Amino acid sequence: MTQKELPEGLHLDTLALRTALEPSQYGENSEALFLTSSFIQTSAASAARRFAMEEEGYTYTRVGNPTVSSMELRLAALEGTEAAIGTATGMAAILLLGMGVLRAGDHVICSQSVFGSTIRLFSGEFGKFGVETTYVPQGDVEAWAAAVKPNTKLLFAETPTNPLTDVCDIQALADVAHKAGALLAVDNCFATPVLQKPTTMGADFVIHSGTKYLDGQGRVMAGAICCSQKHKDEVFLPITRTAGMVLSPFNAWVVLKGMETLGIRMQAHCANALALATWLEAQPQVARVYYPGLKSHPQHALAMRQQSGLGGPVVSFDVKASGPDDARLRAFHVIDSTKVCSITTNLGDTKTTICHPGTTSHGRLTEAQRQAAGVGQGLIRLAVGLDHIEDLKTDLLRGLNSLPTLA
Ligand SMILES: *Cc1c(COP(=O)(O)O)cnc(C)c1O
Repeated sequence: MTQKELPEGLHLDTLALRTALEPSQYGENSEALFLTSSFIQTSAASAARRFAMEEEGYTYTRVGNPTVSSMELRLAALEGTEAAIGTATGMAAILLLGMGVLRAGDHVICSQSVFGSTIRLFSGEFGKFGVETTYVPQGDVEAWAAAVKPNTKLLFAETPTNPLTDVCDIQALADVAHKAGALLAVDNCFATPVLQKPTTMGADFVIHSGTKYLDGQGRVMAGAICCSQKHKDEVFLPITRTAGMVLSPFNAWVVLKGMETLGIRMQAHCANALALATWLEAQPQVARVYYPGLKSHPQHALAMRQQSGLGGPVVSFDVKASGPDDARLRAFHVIDSTKVCSITTNLGDTKTTICHPGTTSHGRLTEAQRQAAGVGQGLIRLAVGLDHIEDLKTDLLRGLNSLPTLA
């Protein structure tokens, strides 16, 4: 099957609708879901050639599937990369990245504020196979450069970060990586290609959790690495067809259709998030708001330059309190008083989600580690969905307005 031929120079919104394999003989306008584990071969000889990778054609879904191919083509078009490879989850994409580019004895430099499971994967799992990881403060380019060793093979960053929305300079990290003969991977889950395309700023790989904004409605698990065709064919495909962390065709189809509305959804998420962040900053019960779209954000200028002038969909804030225990009680009160927001740690959904990072995503850290990460007990994270902004304000006021007065 071949890719549908499209004219050059199409915009992201059009690519998100149009990039796919050619329709089947039935001419379906909405891409088909090929829910099949294997494919009928025209002859034994053709099957032999396909299994030897000498002839194009599908054989078995662990090796390839047309719906998964369409999802990969579409995501690669949005990120502006030659290729993408779908995986079962976002974590499976990072696992595949490590299996592909790392060997025993290699060294990784990773931002200390990446997704918690990413840290456990690098230190816990890759550590078992002789890979060493150094963690550095996300925004401190000099710390990244100082951590380079002769055996450094990979730099891994995520921008903006969860939950404090720290932004890093992708181009500066790409320069550090390439000077060291290493590769840079950027987890682009929060910003999506609507806000930033990391490979245009020098990154070698883009990691996606399709579970988040690509699906966009909180339905399925999915992941992907966006990369060069050479990396896909020579490094990653041989691993997925053997190790099997592949994307299910059903999930690929949901994400494929989800991407069709990614552009307008991200614009709407960001507009709602900016309005809510601006409003939160004016609330007397709120100590601090973390949002790259606000002038008060330490990296506001970098974020606006790097993220197409948009602040992203995630807003965090600290409630005022007299100490850590009081802060936790107050944050819990605000969260538990909501009647619209979903209390869940997931994000990327149309539904606004609210959570307490200090006892969920960062709950397994010691209090000292949490302080170092800047995640206090009064911190609340909102992944701002498409709920009406006035309903969100009212929902947060239920708790903010009924907090006991501070001593
Ligand atoms: C959720 C998430 C992941 C992991 O994705 P899964 O699909 O849940 O495996 C990786 N990175 C970031 C930034 C995430 O938010």
